[in-house]
Amino acid sequence: MLRFLLSLFAYLLLASAASAQTQPAAPAPAAPPPPAFATAKVDGTDNVYIFRYQGHQAMFVVTPDGVIATDPIGYLRPQAVTTYIDEIKKVTPAPIKYVVYSHHHYDHIAGGKPFKDLGAIFVAHKRAKEHLEQLRYADAVIPDETVDDKRTLTLGGTELELSYVGRNHSDNSLVMRLPKQKLIFAVDFIPIESVNFRNMPDSWPIEWEDSLKTVLAMDWERLIPGHPYKGRLGTKDDVRNLLGFMQELSAEVKQAAEQGKCTDTAMKEVKLDKYQTWLSYGQYLAGNIERYCFWWSRGY
Ligand SMILES: [Zn+2]
Repeated sequence: MLRFLLSLFAYLLLASAASAQTQPAAPAPAAPPPPAFATAKVDGTDNVYIFRYQGHQAMFVVTPDGVIATDPIGYLRPQAVTTYIDEIKKVTPAPIKYVVYSHHHYDHIAGGKPFKDLGAIFVAHKRAKEHLEQLRYADAVIPDETVDDKRTLTLGGTELELSYVGRNHSDNSLVMRLPKQKLIFAVDFIPIESVNFRNMPDSWPIEWEDSLKTVLAMDWERLIPGHPYKGRLGTKDDVRNLLGFMQELSAEVKQAAEQGKCTDTAMKEVKLDKYQTWLSYGQYLAGNIERYCFWWSRGY
């Protein structure tokens, strides 16, 4: 009996130790999710704002004569657009005169109709208009006015320079520059400390490098990205780092193409350890390699 009790005791002890090992530790209290949207004035300016809705953001500029807004960012969430307008109205009673598209990609330009209903003039690069006329998205406003290489919008004493800097992440990306504030708004073709999206669909890999050099030659100090990055703005160093990443990856994949490793082997073998701390390195590096493989092994 004693032996039985002892063995029972030993069993219970073991079982409790085992269960202590297998039971997951109590989860740390989760950080509250960030609010769905936020509007912030850019430090050091008196009229430039960033409106963020979930993972997208747009710039708007307030002047006494009206507001210049940018990308409506309403893809699959029309409430983002009405929220955007409400947020502008909290800042100023001035009318929204313009909406400028950064490029034609739907996740950035969807849902502009509420701006149109308020009388805003939509502006985009000429090829953005061509794409949107083909795509015919039900909730995308076709641009009223287009930009070829360059145009400056002047409103209420503020200048916003729109420059086409060549093909990159799309064939119609505009850089929006505020000369006085030394700010630019550039969307998707200058991700900050991040590997490019998936297999860089719609891209022109080598001309993209040229467009980064063109942006580096422009006069500005801070960059507002189209997707928030750790609560900070970009710098020219970020542009230089992206250019370095793309040049190094392009050279590595070119070599892999010459060795017959494109596409699948290169996607597995090519690594750029120097950039492994970048956002999406694990998720998208192989996709970026695939893009350069097509380029260097097929010419497209
Ligand atoms: Zn895009």
